[in-house]
Amino acid sequence: MLSRIDLRDEQKPTHEAISRLRMQPENRIEDRVNAVRSIIAGVRSEKDAALIDFTRCFDKVELTELTVSEHEIEAAAERIERTSPGVHEAITAAVNNVWEYHSCQLPSDVIHESQGLIVRELYRPLARAGCYVPGGRATYPSTVIMTAVPARVAGVGEITLVVPPDSDGSIPDVTLAAAAAAGVSEIHPVGGAQAIAALAYGTESIRPTDVIVGPGNVWVTLAQREVAGVVKVPSAYAGPSEVVVMADSTADPTFAAIDIILQAEHGPDGLAWLLTWDPAIADAVEAEVARLASVADRHAEIESTLQENGYSLLCSSSGQAIEVVNEVAPEHLELMVADPESFMSEIRNAGAIFCGPWTPSSLGDYAAGPNHVLPTNGTARFAGALGVRDFLKSMHVMTAEPSGLQRLSPQVEALAEAEGLNAHADSVRFRVAALNSDDTVTETGASGVSADQPGSSADQSSPSADQPGHPTQEIRPMARARSSIALMSGYHSPQIDVEIRLNTNESPYLPPMKLMESVSEAVKAVNWNRYPKRQATELRKRIAALYEVSSDQVFVANGSNEVLQSLMLAYSAAGGKTAVFEPTYAMHSHLARVTGSELVSGERLQNFAVDIPEAIELISTEKPQLTFLCSPNNPTGLIETPETISAILNAVRSVGGVLCVDEAYGEFTSQSALELLREDSSSPLMVTRTYSKAWNMAAIRLGYLIGPTWAVEELQKVVLPYHLDTLKQAIGVAVLKHENAMRDRVNAIIEGREKIVAGLAELPVRLWPSEANFVLFQVRHESAGKVWQQLVDRSVLVRDCSSWPHFENCLRVTVGTPEEIDRFLIYLKEVLT
Ligand code: PMP
Repeated sequence: MLSRIDLRDEQKPTHEAISRLRMQPENRIEDRVNAVRSIIAGVRSEKDAALIDFTRCFDKVELTELTVSEHEIEAAAERIERTSPGVHEAITAAVNNVWEYHSCQLPSDVIHESQGLIVRELYRPLARAGCYVPGGRATYPSTVIMTAVPARVAGVGEITLVVPPDSDGSIPDVTLAAAAAAGVSEIHPVGGAQAIAALAYGTESIRPTDVIVGPGNVWVTLAQREVAGVVKVPSAYAGPSEVVVMADSTADPTFAAIDIILQAEHGPDGLAWLLTWDPAIADAVEAEVARLASVADRHAEIESTLQENGYSLLCSSSGQAIEVVNEVAPEHLELMVADPESFMSEIRNAGAIFCGPWTPSSLGDYAAGPNHVLPTNGTARFAGALGVRDFLKSMHVMTAEPSGLQRLSPQVEALAEAEGLNAHADSVRFRVAALNSDDTVTETGASGVSADQPGSSADQSSPSADQPGHPTQEIRPMARARSSIALMSGYHSPQIDVEIRLNTNESPYLPPMKLMESVSEAVKAVNWNRYPKRQATELRKRIAALYEVSSDQVFVANGSNEVLQSLMLAYSAAGGKTAVFEPTYAMHSHLARVTGSELVSGERLQNFAVDIPEAIELISTEKPQLTFLCSPNNPTGLIETPETISAILNAVRSVGGVLCVDEAYGEFTSQSALELLREDSSSPLMVTRTYSKAWNMAAIRLGYLIGPTWAVEELQKVVLPYHLDTLKQAIGVAVLKHENAMRDRVNAIIEGREKIVAGLAELPVRLWPSEANFVLFQVRHESAGKVWQQLVDRSVLVRDCSSWPHFENCLRVTVGTPEEIDRFLIYLKEVLT
């Protein structure tokens, strides 16, 4: 069955010697190109009618429906699950493996910064992908997975599958089941060149796509080449199957033979070669191929491939065999040799390489994870496997500072003039002239106002206080910070001197007088010449007693913000991933950006609750080391339900991550994740709290975390030595003695919150039911920015959230004293009515 070619005494150079063996499809297909062009033209003009005609003509099928209904897909998937549970499980496992492998291919955005110019390359998924899955001779659920899953990993919104119909017009259940598992959006029972034309140009039933992928026969491959340019066609080279098995004396002849046959069984038009420099192996493998082919089910396909292009090449050396490989550039290359790695540096051209006796190409075809849509017909010289990048495109984003423009303008002018393109030259010249004549222009922006000033144009456009971290147009001149920092705006909540400050969720009350006495005692007792107690032993002991946990479950830092930062440093940071569910307290994502952690964010539902199934999916696919929840959430004031916290905790636990529930406002509600933590003190759950809100002590910057001892140990390692000063530790201890006073104030604040809610209910606003010490509300008929300013004019400062995503026209008011609340409500009524 394999024809022997002896290259050992060949006088001609190897590439010449084998050139006659390679199929020359370009010659054979020349006449098919015209046929393909007329099919494409037919589909472009007659659309669905042409699809029906061509299917009748080529597939001998009379199509009545051009789209498979969702009901049929679901029913097929159920049938497979019920009747072939093994296949159902294999499909699920393959989807997971392919997903996992392809997730590693997602590229990171590129940032390059050089002397006044920042250039970014941002990746965006294509909107619609068309996946071609061959049918007819065989059924290929694996190809559904290999084409659709990378598209989904890339973030493609719509995935359209086309498959040639069976003789009764249907699509096999197993293909539909794979499509359901892979997340395909729609399926059409159309194949051949006409299906490719439909994906490229669209018909009444099939919307045009942005990328077409998938292997096919010669007609499909030719059609893909014809439409390349109208759409992206990365797998225009994935034609009939090819395998080259390179075997030395250590190879098992049966393994080598079956692997030759396994690609040949796709037949016809393929390529199946054995390469060896050991005559005994050549004899043995040839005999095994003949034996196995004679008993194979798909005997006809195998014979047709082997007759046309099945060779056993006997080489003079392994070096010559490598030359042959590089010349042929096979789709699949199997290295059945003693030391495959020693060949690797020499091999330049192959679609996928399978090393050693235990790696048949069928592993890659179905389940290993990498893609089986590979370049054929010698195109592995310049192409590789289908991957996530094929479903993405990049955009360059450039942001110049005046200094960058000035630096580059001579080059732009010189080259533009050399090309005779004067407007190009003028576009930099005009700007340089403007810069030279206008000395008010600074590197921080042409307005010359600082972004810290409230009400300035810069402040309007840049996110404030609770929303740091979004890129702005401003880039500082000598900024040599990491590019991601240079593109960020800092934290700049307006601190304006007004009578009624209701913008930062502090307590409106001073701590009890008795506490102040303890503070002066503490000041007197400080050993000023000594560093503070590094372990803050006393303070941790007192906090532990309050929550009935052990001291080594308590970590203390300068405000809960520093606790969050320490968590990020210990568990995520550069190289790690952090999950948040937006909208939430912006410091979580900001700290991820600052520490170089990759941010993975899930969207909450319309009612701001966590979308539990989506969240679980996000965590199990992204596997973040650190996940944040915030309860009550800022700025909504809504709590995370116990179901949410348990579900997220389970997902986090199963991927080996940790969950932090930020309870900065925990004292204002009866719900707490501390319950869960007490039930199982070893679970990867941590709760953070602060002195800044309920304890009336925002000035001293103290926050703490309660969690498993193993986590506290790690957190202690990432803080600076002596980060908590002696005075702060002493005050922290003294404050806790006044728990009752704290509770009284919390109750007063909860009453105040109710008063605000009742007052707002009378006004044209929408409000959210807060369980914190603030209330978020949306102004109905006025602009929130204007209302904010009019309140400031009356000496009341609230938080303007209207520029934050999800909070259009929203303001957030902190609960003040009863008098402050009255005045706020009166003024707001004045402004709104
Ligand atoms: N978490 C949340 C949800 C917050 O809103 C805040 C303060 N705005 C903090 C943490 C930080 O509090 P501190 O650093 O003052 O303890």
